[in-house]
Amino acid sequence: MLPPDYHMHTHLCHHAEGVPMDLARQASEMGIREIGVSEHNPMPSDDFDQWRMYRSKLGEYLANLEEARRAFPNVTLRAALEVDYLPGYEEWIRELASMHDWDYFIGSVHYIDGGWDIDNPNRLEEWRARDVYDVWAAYFDRLTAAAASGLFQIIGHADLPKKFCFVPQRDCTSLFTRFLEAAAGSGTAIEINTAGLRKECREMYPSPPFLRLAKAKGIELTFGSDAHRPGEVGMNFPEAIALARSVGYTHSVRFERRQRTRVPLP
Ligand code: ZN
Ligand code: FE
Ligand code: FE
Ligand code: ZN
Repeated sequence: MLPPDYHMHTHLCHHAEGVPMDLARQASEMGIREIGVSEHNPMPSDDFDQWRMYRSKLGEYLANLEEARRAFPNVTLRAALEVDYLPGYEEWIRELASMHDWDYFIGSVHYIDGGWDIDNPNRLEEWRARDVYDVWAAYFDRLTAAAASGLFQIIGHADLPKKFCFVPQRDCTSLFTRFLEAAAGSGTAIEINTAGLRKECREMYPSPPFLRLAKAKGIELTFGSDAHRPGEVGMNFPEAIALARSVGYTHSVRFERRQRTRVPLP
């Protein structure tokens, strides 16, 4: 038995494959009994960037989820979004939240100041041009604000800046701690995101020392494959559970209409 997979995408974001039905089928075949589809959120204007669902597709997204629920009644399907946190967008995020009875929002930071999406493989020249620690600090400033905002149930891939192996020489513990204290204050969970294993960093998000700190601060946990193809659903979950256990976690959490319940790890 595997825990719920709470982070995955569909074709509606223009850089992933499959519909919720395909994701539910894969989960069903793997013995995963609960998934949450968390498409990249629409922005007020569809020309914000090229890698998210259009505003006009929200209805189709929800209809696709409903169709998957009917086809795979053995899989519980949660309706979610992975929402970009940018300062100044709080009102928009509240508006999104009011558009449906969502089970949860994953708050993610991809953009830091200057409109740079730090995980974009087409923008590696930015990494080479900047001081690596400054980028991490700017990212964690934003992630800390996201955690403090209370707009999200879960914070996504918390140490995303390591993706392309640009890791500062300087110790980042104080950045992690400040973020985790904000998450503890608002009761926001984090996820173990196994997609990092499929990137240059070859490591789940967050790192073991980061996750150990999270456990010490009492932060709750979910699991996410960040699947961008149906075949990635539940990927590397045994390793993710082992990582959670290795730092002392005994439970993960589920969300239904933003209400959290704790469940023992398998
Ligand atoms: Zn994506
Ligand atoms: Fe993301
Ligand atoms: Fe994602
Ligand atoms: Zn993601």
